[in-house]
Amino acid sequence: MSDMNPFVSHLEGAIDGARLEPNQVHTLHEGRPIWVRYDLEQVAQRMTKELVASREPTLWRYRELLPAGERIVSLGEGMSPVLPCPRLGSAMGANDLWIKDESQLPTGSFKSRGLAMAITMAHHFGIERVAIPSAGNAGGAAAAYAARAGMECYVFMPEDTPVINQYEAAMAGAKTYLVNGLINDCGRIVKEGMDQMGWFDLSTLKEPYRIEGKKTMGLELAEQFQWELPDVVLYPTGGGTGLIGMWKAFAELGAMGWLASDKRPRMYSVQSTGCAPIARAFERGERFAELFPHAESMARGIRVPVAVGDFMILDAVRESGGQAVAVDEARLPDWMRQAVSSEGISLCPESAACVGALESLLASGDIKPDERVVIFNTGAAQKYLEVMQTELPKLDCTQPIDYATL
Ligand SMILES: *Cc1c(COP(=O)(O)O)cnc(C)c1O
Repeated sequence: MSDMNPFVSHLEGAIDGARLEPNQVHTLHEGRPIWVRYDLEQVAQRMTKELVASREPTLWRYRELLPAGERIVSLGEGMSPVLPCPRLGSAMGANDLWIKDESQLPTGSFKSRGLAMAITMAHHFGIERVAIPSAGNAGGAAAAYAARAGMECYVFMPEDTPVINQYEAAMAGAKTYLVNGLINDCGRIVKEGMDQMGWFDLSTLKEPYRIEGKKTMGLELAEQFQWELPDVVLYPTGGGTGLIGMWKAFAELGAMGWLASDKRPRMYSVQSTGCAPIARAFERGERFAELFPHAESMARGIRVPVAVGDFMILDAVRESGGQAVAVDEARLPDWMRQAVSSEGISLCPESAACVGALESLLASGDIKPDERVVIFNTGAAQKYLEVMQTELPKLDCTQPIDYATL
């Protein structure tokens, strides 16, 4: 049974620090998420930077810092490139701008990191049926990894989820349903169906392992920058797993003595004015967020009106000296077009919000022009046909072409 990483020391309730047994199935503890803890001293003895560098360029190269044992469910995920963005940077007045491009991961988004780990662990515990509420990309990734593991998967999405997300989940064999509500309504359907359907709930932060998968974004970032972290990370925030995971990664690397200095990035949690529960709680100085009413955003991945890990996001943002901000929903398509056309990176509307945040944080002086800034591009633009849609001019090939007018 125990095919788990032997360096996992225990699990821990995030709300009260309670120590929990690692070798059993967990969901929430006291209604709140659970951390995976490692014996970092032991890890530091066993794992070296050279050893990591000698391994395949996937997220599994950090296996001593991940919960899984030998048997993994994988589609070859990671490492994603971290790309310099001089053209976009100079247009914005940021002289050291980078985008870490997660659109290149399996199923076209960083959701594959979390779900590779969650499905691997579910598989390890003998779970055969999973269910997930999804605002878009999580459903596609869950469906793909469930198929890979030979598991049954149920996906519940808002009915206006981007069509590619709907079809990719269905194509991968998941029983996919469109719900006339938001992701929290989908989450309730999963929760209330648990007893009757016997499925395991893969919701964001409702099992302990998706954070560990998303943590690998932070581990990679550190390695790709030679263990010297950037000054600023801009992260589009829905449920917050990625931001929470990265902050945990930096803490673990720091404790292992792997980082070049004590510097940690200021973490900026970025949302849209259409749905900004975390930004609102940050502004009010609160640790827990309230349900954001009438949530609406074309950036579906960050249209999450309530997050079970709200305090974990806000703690990380405050500890880091960053902020939680909301940018103008109406300008997302412009920022998206600007980033894609100036750098060629397939930027999703969620990450377009980070471009907008960079603009305003530079203007306010919160980010300085020479600081090293990393934007996470969490998904591929191609998944958002509804946002990309544009009318193209037509040419009649039976007539002479008037080239001067092209
Ligand atoms: C899910 C998602 C997000 C939000 O991620 P969290 O880690 O849950 O905050 C951002 N962008 C895209 C494209 C997503 O699919």
